[in-house]
Amino acid sequence: MNFCSHCGHRVRFDTPEFDNRPRFMCDQCGTVHYQNPRVITGTLPVAPDGRILLCRRAIEPRHGYWTLPAGFMENGETTVEGALRETVEESRVMGKNPQLLSMVSLPDFDQVHVFYRIDMPDFSFETTPESSEVVLFHREDIPWDEIAFLTVKVTLEHYLEHLDSEHVPVLNSVVHRPKQMG
Ligand SMILES: [Zn+2]
Repeated sequence: MNFCSHCGHRVRFDTPEFDNRPRFMCDQCGTVHYQNPRVITGTLPVAPDGRILLCRRAIEPRHGYWTLPAGFMENGETTVEGALRETVEESRVMGKNPQLLSMVSLPDFDQVHVFYRIDMPDFSFETTPESSEVVLFHREDIPWDEIAFLTVKVTLEHYLEHLDSEHVPVLNSVVHRPKQMG
């Protein structure tokens, strides 16, 4: 950030009084521009026969890779509302019975990813501008080598690990930036 989004004056990056980390501060209007992690919210849709719905991404990042429906939470909505909205936008599935499944912090990316398991009321779904393919997968057919994001992978693994248990616990986890090779 170079300029204040409130008054247009140049900002400086410095630690405000009574704070413990640097912020973008405007000396003209006094605004402190806090930057905080963003929430990505999504679902793991389960069809009536137990198959899992995945979407092949038609957009960057990770174009062509498979993902669970998810996206940035909007102001004014709950995590559940955001997850269900993203699911409609990416697959046209109207999910039911959302159950919190995973909450994964990504401190290297300043994000938190939240996933809900949802029931699909029937077998209807569609491709969308965001998903070039939408497919129901049996657990043994999940394309593990083509999963778009690590948080999607750990959420799928966690769900399948507890598939036969009475109650699926919530995965509370952390994903770090992969180490660069070489
Ligand atoms: Zn300002």
